[in-house]
Amino acid sequence: DNTTSELAASIRSIPDYPKPGIIFRDITTLLGNPRAFRRAVDELVQPYAGTKIDKIAGMEARGFILGGAVAHQLSSGFVPIRKKGKLPHDTVRIAYSLEYGVDEMEMHRDAIEPGEKVILVDDLIATGGTAVGATKLLRQIGAEVVGACFVIDLPDLGGRRKLEELGVSVHTLVE
Ligand code: 5GP
Repeated sequence: DNTTSELAASIRSIPDYPKPGIIFRDITTLLGNPRAFRRAVDELVQPYAGTKIDKIAGMEARGFILGGAVAHQLSSGFVPIRKKGKLPHDTVRIAYSLEYGVDEMEMHRDAIEPGEKVILVDDLIATGGTAVGATKLLRQIGAEVVGACFVIDLPDLGGRRKLEELGVSVHTLVE
């Protein structure tokens, strides 16, 4: 439909980045386009309108930009999930799988109260390693992960299915 094609057209594809054979989907062009940025945020929040969401959890770094806007629109708080070593207070940490190897992500231990309803936000889901790690981290501190939303889904990489198998409902805008 219209929204999907307008959003898709605002995303730039960079061949051979970060390495040969990879096509990187660059959302800086979407963010820089006033209509597309507003559209994307409006579409991301759409399934949650009228639901009380306590916190938006955004993944470093593009999830901070989209997640901040989503949090404002839903009148929710915002919680950053960061690469290890960046947060100043007590954290909970989890290892997660990357395409090659593993890394660790963390969040402040007191960022979310047990039982609070949380939506996870990022720009793109590929293998799902990042979002699965974030879901486990959020559940570890007692959050209720109500859903996860992404501007872009790369369906061949299977991330959506992995998240859904964990019981998280997934909302995406462009494949
Ligand atoms: P996954 O963990 O699902 O394999 O990869 C998703 C994570 O990597 C997200 O945090 C996302 O920002 C980043 N990522 C991987 N590939 C791309 C890409 O082509 N474009 C953008 N914008 N982010 C990507």
